[in-house]
Amino acid sequence: MKTDMQWKPDAFTRALIEGLFEPAEQEKHQLTDRENEAFHALLQKAWETNRTRPIVDLFVFLQKMKQEKGLSPPALDPEAGLEEAALLLLAEKHESIDEHGVTIGGRVDRSLSIVGQAEKRCADYLNRHPVEAPSGIELRDAIAENQKRIRSVLKMGSEDWDSFSGQLKFAIESIDTLSRILDLPEKAVADIRRVTRRYRMRLTPYYTSLIMPGEVNDPILLQSVPTGEMVDNAGEEIPPVAADHSPARLIDQFYPRVVTIKATNMCGMYCTHCLRIAHIGKKDRIYSKDAYREALDYIRENHSIRDVLVTGGDAFVLPNDLLKWLLQELDEIDHVRLKRLGSRIPVTTPQRIDEALLDILEQSSDRKPLRVVTQINTAREITPVSRDAFRKLSNRVAAILNQAVLLRGINDTRVKMWKLSETIQEAYVRPYYVFNCSYRNPQFAHLRVPVETGRDIIESMYGNISGDAIPRYIATAGGKIPLHRDNVTGREGEQLVLQKPWSGETVLYPDPREEDRAGKPFAFEKYVIPEN
Ligand SMILES: *Cc1c(COP(=O)(O)O)cnc(C)c1O
Ligand code: SF4
Repeated sequence: MKTDMQWKPDAFTRALIEGLFEPAEQEKHQLTDRENEAFHALLQKAWETNRTRPIVDLFVFLQKMKQEKGLSPPALDPEAGLEEAALLLLAEKHESIDEHGVTIGGRVDRSLSIVGQAEKRCADYLNRHPVEAPSGIELRDAIAENQKRIRSVLKMGSEDWDSFSGQLKFAIESIDTLSRILDLPEKAVADIRRVTRRYRMRLTPYYTSLIMPGEVNDPILLQSVPTGEMVDNAGEEIPPVAADHSPARLIDQFYPRVVTIKATNMCGMYCTHCLRIAHIGKKDRIYSKDAYREALDYIRENHSIRDVLVTGGDAFVLPNDLLKWLLQELDEIDHVRLKRLGSRIPVTTPQRIDEALLDILEQSSDRKPLRVVTQINTAREITPVSRDAFRKLSNRVAAILNQAVLLRGINDTRVKMWKLSETIQEAYVRPYYVFNCSYRNPQFAHLRVPVETGRDIIESMYGNISGDAIPRYIATAGGKIPLHRDNVTGREGEQLVLQKPWSGETVLYPDPREEDRAGKPFAFEKYVIPEN
């Protein structure tokens, strides 16, 4: 090994080695035979190695013996006598092997313990998620069993099961059909019968196969089957914000540069927490081409609009030729630069995502970026089939974004929401928004979750899961209002106090002073404006 006269241990390494030689506070214990053997093996490897790991292992061992037995390195083996000079040589060797010059003190005393802390933060999640929030991929066998049962009750062939039209043809819209598939309590059946006189129910057989029999508040059941609360909840419906934001037929607008076209009132299924519950699912309606033309005219005439979101209902309910026409019309408008399609169908009826649809989406996205905005609320909704639909979609469009709704009993814990984020990310979908469930509709007031609970869940993600799996937490109240806590908790002189969401620890963060810069030329300005 080359010795470098210039080499000096850094502060972390000095502290590590000094710590090993500090006088012991506790009574000294001898090494067991096994530890003695391990020590000599580690020591030999550390001297012989060309790798960093054996040196790290030796120092970790020395630290452990010091902490647990009060033994300093020379006391581990009085004959071999491991002195400070030898440890410094090993420290230098470690640093010279490591490409980034990481010191043994930095690695053993700092990095390993930071990683240890990080692992502790996730241990609870890793233990609990397979039981508390299994994905549809993890539950594939149970789902396959459900599918068999449902198909036999409905007398549904595999061709119908595998096609969108078959899924719609066999859609479950009455409590009588549902109770042939699911063994629901008598009282629930009576209540659902009462509620479905007012509100529509529709589950595709595929989506029904995600319901696990015997789970009382099954998260798929809660999302799709209306309960008594929907008519019993006290309160008056406040019209959706959009009701006073429709400047033209089919159009909603409250942002200067983004508009939505509500292109249909139909969905593959009807959600119990639907914001548009008043419009959706009363009666399926096909709109006239003239209605679309008026909406397109509005967009054409308003040059500030650059992003158009086609929603519904559900955009993938639209027949292919209509969807193709609508996208082509939008692509023809010069100031429209991007499009989005809003659809839950990839999770409720993934059979819809066939080659014909994919070709239409790709053609449009090739002209101007097209994103698909979907709604997945639980990891359960990602099955091998829906994952495959998203995989194919992701090859054809610019992005797939998820807008989840925070719902009581469905996804209102850290474990469930982390699992949702990670599972959809593994299924090619990017978490985008988590909405706090709207206060405007008494029908689903029972599904609402306090703002603070949601904030705790979303903030718990920072530092613990991949950054691009962390959604933004939003309230819809006359526009989308972010609900993240302000992590800037104060100011000390010229520094801001920032708080790390995962530990509560604060750091000082120097902030540039505008006063120091005002009026002074900046960057290339310096070349054209003489400094005074
Ligand atoms: C949600 C919404 C949008 C899109 O908002 P983004 O923040 O861009 O996703 C646009 N218009 C209306 C009416 C909306 O409700
Ligand atoms: S898919 Fe969307 S629009 Fe349709 S019922 Fe569900 S929440 Fe409402």
